[in-house]
Amino acid sequence: MSIPPSRALESIRGSAIRDLLAVTERPGVLSLAGGLPATDLIPTGRIAVAAQRAIADASALQYTASTGVARCREAIAHLQCAAPEQILITHGSQQALSLLAQALVDPGSTVVVDDPVYVGALQSFQAVCARIVALPITGAGTNVAELETRLRSGLRPRIVHTVSNFHNPSGVTASAHTRIRLAELADQYGFLAIEDDPYGALRFTGDPIDPIPGDRVIRLGSASKILAPALRVGWMQAPPSIVGMVERLRQSADLCGSAFSQLMTADLLSDTGWLADHVDRLCAQYRVRATALTDALDRHLGGRIDWRPPEGGMFCWARLHDVDTSNLLPAALYQGVAFVPGRAFAVSDDLGEYLRLSFATLPPAELDEGVRRLATALDHL
Ligand code: PMP
Repeated sequence: MSIPPSRALESIRGSAIRDLLAVTERPGVLSLAGGLPATDLIPTGRIAVAAQRAIADASALQYTASTGVARCREAIAHLQCAAPEQILITHGSQQALSLLAQALVDPGSTVVVDDPVYVGALQSFQAVCARIVALPITGAGTNVAELETRLRSGLRPRIVHTVSNFHNPSGVTASAHTRIRLAELADQYGFLAIEDDPYGALRFTGDPIDPIPGDRVIRLGSASKILAPALRVGWMQAPPSIVGMVERLRQSADLCGSAFSQLMTADLLSDTGWLADHVDRLCAQYRVRATALTDALDRHLGGRIDWRPPEGGMFCWARLHDVDTSNLLPAALYQGVAFVPGRAFAVSDDLGEYLRLSFATLPPAELDEGVRRLATALDHL
């Protein structure tokens, strides 16, 4: 039986990364491919306490408001220095991207993304048949100079999507200038900026940079990378009018999120002393792992690879000159190591020489062994 998909579904590009994850689960493969936080650093003991406390009240197992459990909205508002009415809790920040695309984008309206792109965002915009314009990312984040040139020549996006800290996959953090300029352009040309920021708390070097200022910004955050992805708690911080629109739409999506999960998250996020210590521990570990990965790149691939030194987050974006990393992947899997080829994140540019290496999920010795296997694969290409 052949059932045709909707036109919207046809326009969504499959995620090469999801397909890859299946392969990386094969025994013996060291995966530098996944976008997952470290399982061994998930605070299971503290989460178990939060679960016990949440379930002490049976309302944890009831339906809840489409905007989220009040206690969780308040805990997030407190962390974000926002008002609870500006916060809507979603099923991970991915659902926020999907709901915002449905709420704000008509078929054919323009959405600007970075190239390389966070594929989950691209898919959300493709699902509503947006016209995608991809601008090559710079070392200072979203390409505001190119954006301005395009705006001057008539481009009128509804949304500009940006990952302000430790961009997935390029690792880039937007400079203060980029953030301010994006806010100014949003005001001048009337678009909304979505500041997608699941990694901001995971900074292990340098000073944090203030978020994008202004009223035309929707900020997305997530518990996935600091607590656990399975909580499926993300949030948007937006003007109450947008929160109202998304609240209405959300009723057609899933009615509401899980009160149980949100109560656990509220318990964890409002234990601010514990949270600060936990995030410090995470950052310290990620710093050790990032250093182990880049030391291994030096040791095993020195002279053949360039990379951007990670300052936080989970990814190292690298380039192997004159190597097509999509061709390298099967050889790497044969040697027992996985990574994501740059092309998986490419929209308009080719990015065939690039690769995304995650340092988050493996301990230092395995990161070194993974890079050694990558070098062997390259030798056999
Ligand atoms: N935004 C970015 C940039 C991401 O990398 C991810 C996860 N890979 C998400 C959003 C979605 O994360 P979650 O739904 O778990 O909050």
